[in-house]
Amino acid sequence: MTTKNEPIPLLDLRGQYEPLREEMRAVMDRVCDSQWFIGGPEVDACEKEIAAYSGCEFGIGMSSGTDALLCGMMALGIGPGDEVVVPSFTFFATAGCVSRLGATPVFADIDPDTYNLTAECVAPKLTDKTKLIIPVHLFGQCAEMDEILALASSRGIAVMEDAAQSIGSVYNGRKACSMGQLGTLSFFPSKNLGAFGDAGMIVTNDEHLAHMCKLLRNHGAEPKYYHSHIGGNFRLDALQAAILRVKLPHLDAWSIGRAENACKYNELLEDAPVKCPVIAEGNTSIYNQYVIAAPRRDELRKHLADKGISTEIYYPVPLHLQDCFRQYGGMRGDLPISEKAALEVLALPIYPELTDAQLERVAAEIRAFYE
Ligand SMILES: *Cc1c(COP(=O)(O)O)cnc(C)c1O
Repeated sequence: MTTKNEPIPLLDLRGQYEPLREEMRAVMDRVCDSQWFIGGPEVDACEKEIAAYSGCEFGIGMSSGTDALLCGMMALGIGPGDEVVVPSFTFFATAGCVSRLGATPVFADIDPDTYNLTAECVAPKLTDKTKLIIPVHLFGQCAEMDEILALASSRGIAVMEDAAQSIGSVYNGRKACSMGQLGTLSFFPSKNLGAFGDAGMIVTNDEHLAHMCKLLRNHGAEPKYYHSHIGGNFRLDALQAAILRVKLPHLDAWSIGRAENACKYNELLEDAPVKCPVIAEGNTSIYNQYVIAAPRRDELRKHLADKGISTEIYYPVPLHLQDCFRQYGGMRGDLPISEKAALEVLALPIYPELTDAQLERVAAEIRAFYE
């Protein structure tokens, strides 16, 4: 078992794999024996199961969460001249995809407690050119969707939920991805539902958009070699789909395990001068990350690293200040909450297999740093 000074990684997937090892190897054999690698029954079943899990009718398997964002926007017809409102404080892909389509990402600030987009932050960013709002459900909890959806529908603007970090999280009784026109998921290995490589999915209740996404992920061909649209290769492969199907029935238990660890951290860090995650009323977080706001964050991170405890900064540079987005004219001071978050946030190990002793060690080292 864990000894006193053994390193604590930010994420260790071996504990999740071990009990599923035999089942995993059996489904991988099944796919190999079938020699059906692209599409087929595993992908179809995976799409149905994950769509149902997310409270949606349609699932369209994608090669990654990034490609899900890209393909979703292509299905919505986003292109040059269009503006898409995104939070500045998110993973790069959310805005990168907007740029790749020739549209303009318009960066909005966030709520200081949840780090998520709010309707209040979005409203002043809307123009006649705004075609889409992408709320990101960061770290495991949903953005305030009622307010954002009301604002969007009053202006005839579409909403696509980036739920790469929040599969299965609940907002006022509704699942992440079931509220906007489209929802996108990532199965990057570090997400709560992780594949053995890159994978993602679009989920939706809109039959037309589902059809468009299916078409576009396969170069817009229907039938084969007859192209009505210009799409790409955004396909999910059968091996990843089969692996995801083994994991899906365990997802809720894993997410609950993370939430239990979060609860323990909250207690253990009560007296430390750090801000623990704030979960908004009506939200259930799946805690893809447990992110504290910490004074002297970089020194704390170094202290923890010296003690063998791995942490990460999601994200050190808000997107409106990224070099590659300089063309959009973002300046320091434009989005103060995002900029402040980038200086303070620190993600602690939260995976469900962590022991109480490990959680206590992390918390004790944080308290010791500030004493
Ligand atoms: C991980 C992530 C993505 C991209 O997913 P990939 O599968 O890595 O392409 C997009 N948005 C957010 C918020 C993410 O965390």
